[in-house]
Amino acid sequence: MTADRLIAHVDMDAFYASVEQRDNPELRGQPVIVGGLGDRGVVAAASYEVRRFGVRSAMPVRDAMRRCPEAIRVRPRMAVYRGVSKQIFYVFREFSPLVEGLSLDEAFIDLTRLSKKRSANELGLQIKQRIHAETSLTASVGIGPNKLVAKIASDLEKPDGLCIVSRHHVSEILDPLPVRTISGIGPQTGKRLAKLGIRTIEELRQASPDRLQPVFGRYSHRIQQRARGIDDREVVAYSERKSISSEETFDKDIADRDELVRQLAALADGVAATLRKKKLVAEVVNVKIRTHEFVTRSRQRHLAPAVNDSGVIDRVARELLEQWLAENPGAKLRLLGVGVAGLQPARQLGLFQDTPETTGLDQALDTIRARFGDDSIRRGG
Ligand SMILES: [Mg+2]
Repeated sequence: MTADRLIAHVDMDAFYASVEQRDNPELRGQPVIVGGLGDRGVVAAASYEVRRFGVRSAMPVRDAMRRCPEAIRVRPRMAVYRGVSKQIFYVFREFSPLVEGLSLDEAFIDLTRLSKKRSANELGLQIKQRIHAETSLTASVGIGPNKLVAKIASDLEKPDGLCIVSRHHVSEILDPLPVRTISGIGPQTGKRLAKLGIRTIEELRQASPDRLQPVFGRYSHRIQQRARGIDDREVVAYSERKSISSEETFDKDIADRDELVRQLAALADGVAATLRKKKLVAEVVNVKIRTHEFVTRSRQRHLAPAVNDSGVIDRVARELLEQWLAENPGAKLRLLGVGVAGLQPARQLGLFQDTPETTGLDQALDTIRARFGDDSIRRGG
């Protein structure tokens, strides 16, 4: 077992439908279906008012309308939902850099570090309050010693719920729930277990491994661990963007090496600043090159450890560019780009290779940018 951890699972309530009700007062208190307006569409989200009629997301709109003919159908506004998603993920990262998004409106947050100073209850309330303050929307929060328990807990008091399960009460809470509450046990497996007389998590927990063998094979042990509320999976943070890049199309094709290196430095600096702003580090740097003949090439290199300082990213990008230029003498470039990938949360900045000067300089530049905007300053060549 890993040491005591505190994990939250946050899930917005009827997300798309709640955003529509927030933005359109005439929809409040009404049965709202967000989904394609044609008869062939499926329900993307259903307000709580329409769920009472048995309408669920992923149901064909036609079936939903049969269950609730007075339902109001609304076309999805994905750009708006993505914007709200960004807001809530910023809130999550106020609490921890370890945020694992599961969808636009759902994430795990590892609160272990904060749990030394604040109670689970306080943290749960603060997360809900911050989300409401930023978005005027409600979320349900489950908190437990691991992902499995947190995820189950967030569903127990929906909507606007806060459910905290301490490690001592895990079995008490899980035991009476249906086996399908455990993610990974789908309808088919549920049916096979029911035939064995296993319907609740308690029955799954107490079943002899021999009986489970035909259903789960080599995963039997793990499934029974889950039924006991044991789950060692880490919260794996990753950015909503899996890569960050910046490119420049030149007004005139450039063949001059020094000029290309200068352009590259500005691009690398911008990408590195974005990484630092998002508290991320990258383990891959790539350079994109497009010639005046519209041939596009890219070169990349892995870094260990992952970095976010402008100096290192610029140096690697420059080596990649110079190597390509050496292989393609006389090339004229139309476009140059710098990108980073393999993004991870920048947890222990002090451990990375930055020399104190470069880190200090990066911080100073970031402060100026934060105050005057991204274009206010650029590192010289
Ligand atoms: Mg949700």
